[in-house]
Amino acid sequence: MTTTPHTLAPVSADLLRQRLASILPAHCLIEETEAQRPYECDALSLYRELPLFIALPETADQAQAVLQCCHELGVPVVPRGAGTGLTAGAMAHPEGVLLGLAKLNRILDIDPVARTARLEPGVTNLAISEAAAEHGLYYAPDPSSQIACTIGGNVAANSGGVHCLKYGLTTHNLLAVEMLTVEGERVTLGGDGLDGPGLDMLAIITGSEGLLGVTVEVTVKLLPRPEIARVLLAGFDSVSAAGDAVGAVIAAGIIPGGLEMMDALALQAAEDFARAGYPRDAQALLLCELDGTEEEVAQHIDEVSAIFTAHGATSLRVSEDEAERSLLWKGRKSAFPAVGRMSPDYYCMDGTIPRHQVSHVLEEISRLSKKYDLRVANVFHAGDGNLHPLIMYDAADPAQVTRAEQFGVDILELSVAVGGAITGEHGVGLEKLNQMHDQYGESELHLFEDIKAAFDPQLTLNPGKGVPILKRCQEYRALPGKHNHGC
Ligand SMILES: Cc1cc2nc3c(=O)[nH]c(=O)nc-3n(C[C@H](O)[C@H](O)[C@H](O)COP(=O)(O)OP(=O)(O)OC[C@H]3O[C@@H](n4cnc5c(N)ncnc54)[C@H](O)[C@@H]3O)c2cc1C
Repeated sequence: MTTTPHTLAPVSADLLRQRLASILPAHCLIEETEAQRPYECDALSLYRELPLFIALPETADQAQAVLQCCHELGVPVVPRGAGTGLTAGAMAHPEGVLLGLAKLNRILDIDPVARTARLEPGVTNLAISEAAAEHGLYYAPDPSSQIACTIGGNVAANSGGVHCLKYGLTTHNLLAVEMLTVEGERVTLGGDGLDGPGLDMLAIITGSEGLLGVTVEVTVKLLPRPEIARVLLAGFDSVSAAGDAVGAVIAAGIIPGGLEMMDALALQAAEDFARAGYPRDAQALLLCELDGTEEEVAQHIDEVSAIFTAHGATSLRVSEDEAERSLLWKGRKSAFPAVGRMSPDYYCMDGTIPRHQVSHVLEEISRLSKKYDLRVANVFHAGDGNLHPLIMYDAADPAQVTRAEQFGVDILELSVAVGGAITGEHGVGLEKLNQMHDQYGESELHLFEDIKAAFDPQLTLNPGKGVPILKRCQEYRALPGKHNHGC
């Protein structure tokens, strides 16, 4: 299929303002530069841009009308949840509208019998579990950003979290999505049953990074809270010993509720921040959560302790109660801001590698750290093989920025070279467009391009993100004054 590149014919800002003002109340439309500043980037602050207008609808009908208006005028639209994304996926388009969905934040229904929750897209991830708690239920995917990130953003990024090793990613906990097409038509994808008729459109939408439609309602599955959960904390004197221990746990047929690793620098930062009692002398730390019935958990604690000991654990500690369990997780869950206290800025990478490559990849990252003269702290979803190297740099020093970016590219290329992937849970966004060429061949990229064009023929929905649209990129770059967003 040939795509028709959107040529971004300039639309009169006055006309657009007039149309948006007829749809939204004044407090839902932001034009003034200073008021727009909080929206100029997502959590990847390396990339910043301001839109023409920020639209913050309070109802799905208003969001629909904004999309219809932008479609009619050929104006780019970038959907945004809470802006906690780490790939600049929600970064604004300079000639477009940033469509913030955070005000659509009502929990529409919790059905304890069907164990489902129906939500507006701006409901935060944590709020779902908080609301479900009175029924003894919770929502399993738990990004570390869960206090802020929205379920609409989670669906768009197919987000993961600590509990995803056992309970799956967003895609495994999703039943239905109400979506607005780029033309502003409302469609329902998925349903109450496990296997709907026809093409599995829900699977295409999940993880589609705001490129195919705008989510305005989400139905998720809720799970019963496990009877008990305990955390086993283990120190090791090398990351390779800890990495081997992770492999041995999975090989023993035990799937922990969570299995996370931190290297020496990350654990120091987390301990300084959380005072959780992590062993400061360890070179690597594993946090292994075991959940289920009392008997199951007791048996798994014994088995995993034996495996860790056999792999040279230098210390072992088991949480005794819920307060201690939360404290042990607090360090890991706040590892990013904790590392942020060690350096003016940090750049969080997100690649996935086969678990047996952990030691090799960490050695390479350490070598690259010397090469680029930038410190790096490693935090992992170890059970999934999902790396989060946090590259420390100073954004005020352009040379450091360039080195940090190149360091990140090398890590992604390394992930592909060892048989892994350029993304773990954060998506492609703007950040990883070039690395899509390392991951995929032309035929696959053209297939992605065709899917994008089938939903959005004029390429006005979140343009320049997720899929390196080959033909369009060449033409776009040729336009005077256009950004080269690395496509
Ligand atoms: C400290 C920290 C820890 C994190 N930990 C994790 C983690 O453990 N696991 C993980 O997976 N991620 C993690 N993230 C990344 C991020 O929180 C997730 O990707 C999250 O799902 C983004 O949600 P959001 O509402 O902030 O989306 P945004 O950042 O606003 O947007 C993300 C993408 O979704 C699109 N989008 C947003 N809302 C909609 C909508 N309603 N319809 C269509 N498209 C939409 C945007 O266009 C963009 O492409 C972390 C981020 C931070 C800062």
